[in-house]
Amino acid sequence: MSTDTRLNFPIEDIPKNGESLKIADGLTWVRMPLPMSLNHINLWLIGENHDQTLVDTGMHLPEVVEKWTALINKENYSIKRVFITHMHPDHVGMGGWFVDQHNCEFMMSRTDYLQCRVLSADKTGNVPQVAIDFYKKAGMKEEALERYVSRFGFFGSIIYPLPSSYQRVKGGDILNFGEREWKVLEGSGHTMEHLCLYSLDEEYLISGDQILPTISSHVGVFPTEPEANPLEDWINSCKRLKSQVNEEVLVLPAHGRPFIGAHKRLDALINLHEANLESLHDLLKEPRKATETFSVLFNREIDENNFLMALGESLAHLNCLEQRGAISKDLIDGVYHYEAN
Ligand SMILES: [Zn+2]
Ligand SMILES: [Zn+2]
Repeated sequence: MSTDTRLNFPIEDIPKNGESLKIADGLTWVRMPLPMSLNHINLWLIGENHDQTLVDTGMHLPEVVEKWTALINKENYSIKRVFITHMHPDHVGMGGWFVDQHNCEFMMSRTDYLQCRVLSADKTGNVPQVAIDFYKKAGMKEEALERYVSRFGFFGSIIYPLPSSYQRVKGGDILNFGEREWKVLEGSGHTMEHLCLYSLDEEYLISGDQILPTISSHVGVFPTEPEANPLEDWINSCKRLKSQVNEEVLVLPAHGRPFIGAHKRLDALINLHEANLESLHDLLKEPRKATETFSVLFNREIDENNFLMALGESLAHLNCLEQRGAISKDLIDGVYHYEAN
């Protein structure tokens, strides 16, 4: 489901990967490449060239180091602090590099900072048995399990070592970046403590992955907390954000193009998940494994590259329905089967 056509995209130009585009005084849009089907991330520079705050950083890849070095030299940027919206590698990956190379301050939410340090400590070949058991109970087959085991530790490999200390930022904080004051808005469900920056003049919302114009952000369950209910957190965050931001604000998302229509988009995201929950509930008139629910949740092909994400997302929907009291699960032959109550 996409409501793309109902949103307004007022900025015509898009910076190429490794380049920047000034969109207002003291506000610059930077793009960096990602090595996936989602092939870019948007980063934001707040302030004038001699004193800039960088919001999110890009993935730690040789190509990104090269592009950042060239861009900083070309534009003569002086980046004084780095603000991270959340702990995913495309956002935080170069954070430690900026601290080491440019002696920046480093700002992040506490939960995401700690979670990122924990996840980047996972070492290849050291997969916990509970993680394997978790995926077996979710119905994962041998081949997919082997793939999971072989990729364990990947998260840390695309993040420059995280700085050993950081400045905590939390929802409600007011920060002075550039000529504007920014209020920190917190969301949960995509990661545990995702931060957005809302300018006090209500003109701009740097939304990270909390509101994206065309894709629905990943909301998944992982082996560290099998009973987590991130989808209810996500839906509640969307509702809260809608009450906090102006419909006319220019949303500056981490992926896709800047747009106007925050309320429309938040409503569409909430409705998408509620519709998926309903279809899933209907499907579960017959008992099914998590891996047998993809057809009602995704309108794209699930292959080996996105299987783990799809399974995590399916578990998030199942946990949400279970904790709303709508379905129950039963362990049969070592695999959970879910059925409507
Ligand atoms: Zn993310
Ligand atoms: Zn992202």
